[in-house]
Amino acid sequence: ATPAAIMVGSGRAAELGVLYRKGEALEILSHVDTVVFDKTGTLTEGRPRLTDLEAVDGDADAALRLAAAVEAGSEHPLAAAIVEAARERGLAPAAVEAFQAIPGYGVKARLEGREVLFGAARFMAREGIDPGALAGRAEAFAGDGRTPVFLAVDGAALAVLAVADPLKAESAAVVAALKGQGLRVVMITGDTRRTAAAIAREAGIDEVQAEILPDGKAEAVRKLQAAGRRVAFVGDGINDAPALAQAEVGIAVGSGTDIAIEAADVTLTRGDLSGVVTALHVARRTLATIR
Ligand code: ADP
Ligand code: MG
Repeated sequence: ATPAAIMVGSGRAAELGVLYRKGEALEILSHVDTVVFDKTGTLTEGRPRLTDLEAVDGDADAALRLAAAVEAGSEHPLAAAIVEAARERGLAPAAVEAFQAIPGYGVKARLEGREVLFGAARFMAREGIDPGALAGRAEAFAGDGRTPVFLAVDGAALAVLAVADPLKAESAAVVAALKGQGLRVVMITGDTRRTAAAIAREAGIDEVQAEILPDGKAEAVRKLQAAGRRVAFVGDGINDAPALAQAEVGIAVGSGTDIAIEAADVTLTRGDLSGVVTALHVARRTLATIR
């Protein structure tokens, strides 16, 4: 690739909100055959909202108050949805002790002498808690693309809540455009299988890796590479930095964290996913001109 062609290509891309951190990124990107997207905050808006709450004793407010208390110390996007819903219903926040976040699983704390757990089905399984009749509700929520989260108190499941995090307006069109360019598109998420499948279907993605723990995203990229695929990883979060670094090309969406942007080769400054299509298109066009 001649430096002049690369300068012209990256200049054109910059006008469209695509910043290449180094010249090689353009060249490497032109060889990519697989685009892997993180789900939360990348394909989706990343601002989940509480949509459902089913408590075994019928006391939804009491359950929400407990969940919000435990989430108060968490920075997870799910936590914001729960805390906000409790605030909207005027539920006074309760103070907790011994707060603990378990990445990829959930949160736990002690509250008024009780041990409260809040998180994914696999968190309940890990703690030996049987979700009982709530499991069926959780499956129904997940089938609709909502994320079910279980609340347990002193070892017994008390409620299941659901949060919805809709796709960004442009996600399905971006996926369709990439497929139209002959690229393979994959979604990776820590979310539960059924929820992930429903969201992926809506986005038009047929290759999904779900229930991947935060440390597992880079490993998932490595496995695709070992299978001969040349991968661009698109992500926004702190958890995504290792996967962004592992991929042939890491693409950070602009509203993402500084740490993600630092680990990336390409940044979409407008936070609009259409930049992925632009980035690939410009790379391929530029390299085609000089080949
Ligand atoms: P992702 O960002 O890909 O959705 P995470 O690895 O952050 O995935 O989380 C995976 C799952 O673990 C979530 O869908 C949720 O069920 C559970 N979880 C993680 N952190 C929390 C939290 N703070 N509160 C409730 N559930 C959580
Ligand atoms: Mg994310």
